[in-house]
Amino acid sequence: MNCDECQNKIEDFIHDRLELQEASEFSEHIKHCDNCYNELEINYCMQSAIAELKSDERSGSGDFTGALKEKLTGSVEKYRIMRRDHKIKKSIVITLLVVIGIFIGI
Ligand SMILES: [Zn+2]
Repeated sequence: MNCDECQNKIEDFIHDRLELQEASEFSEHIKHCDNCYNELEINYCMQSAIAELKSDERSGSGDFTGALKEKLTGSVEKYRIMRRDHKIKKSIVITLLVVIGIFIGI
């Protein structure tokens, strides 16, 4: 993902509108690109502050940068887990096919 693509997805990332793989690629780019990170941080903090001001609850800690870092790490982690689960399911299917193959004597 290049900087243009990344910066075009900032809004979608903030509002959880990216697919898991896209969000993971976005987060990986952000980790290594200060320009895009700064752009994301400004947008995220501004929108979070506005959302907190609008809401009646004052439950937020006000640590928007910390929350953003958690969101970035979380999106990479979710994608990693999804890929791992996919590999496990694939292994189970292959194992079942082998067992069925042995059972019916192929
Ligand atoms: Zn970039």
